[in-house]
Amino acid sequence: MTANKNYQATLVAEMYKPGRTVLHDDLALTSAEVSINTLPAGVSLPFIHAHKQNEEIYVVLKGKGLFYIDGEEFGVQEGCVVRIDPAAARSIKADEASELTYVCVQAKAGSLEQHTQGDGLPAEGQPSWQK
Ligand code: ZN
Repeated sequence: MTANKNYQATLVAEMYKPGRTVLHDDLALTSAEVSINTLPAGVSLPFIHAHKQNEEIYVVLKGKGLFYIDGEEFGVQEGCVVRIDPAAARSIKADEASELTYVCVQAKAGSLEQHTQGDGLPAEGQPSWQK
């Protein structure tokens, strides 16, 4: 959608349609992978997987489903956030009566050196809404 030297933005027009949109290339991501995923009702990921070094954070945006992590299963719904260690065996299934839409963020476990106020700096600028 837009690109300049200090930011990238994109429109994910089909975020609630079945499938997976990976944002790495569109946003030129350098510290994390972000995908937006929608599983149709009753459908699961076709595999169980782990990761070499990336933890995953799942943010459920819409619908209901089940997570499988290391032999445990639990239900999720809109608003649930789940962090999974790299080595954990995982899978996800949409509820039989509901699509499941979620954002998945992958980032190298243990790589975060500062966050929130620890990384923020005052900067110059004046948005139109402050005039
Ligand atoms: Zn994964």
